Amino acid sequence: MPEKHATMPDESKPGRPPGSPNKEYPEVDADAPRCRAFDCQSTELEVLKRLPDQWYGGERNGEPYTVIVRRRVRCKVCGSVMIVATYENRKKPRPPKTRSKK
Ligand SMILES: [Zn+2]
Repeated sequence: MPEKHATMPDESKPGRPPGSPNKEYPEVDADAPRCRAFDCQSTELEVLKRLPDQWYGGERNGEPYTVIVRRRVRCKVCGSVMIVATYENRKKPRPPKTRSKK
């Protein structure tokens, strides 16, 4: 008998290694970080982990930035986990190895 092949939603998106610790959390603005939960909005956030800096040039509110620093935080009140992103303007450190082509 014909078997129905339900198209399974492919959860493994390309570019994302399996078992990646970077779960997607809602990102909140660091200018006024507060809980994303609609009925919570607490400002008591506890930093769980600082994520690797992301060097990404851009402009925000008219201010240039060169790096995005993300911290995973948890609301002390309701326990929601989210990401707080701050935008900093600093010089990019030199890469440890410079292979200059002549
Ligand atoms: Zn909360």
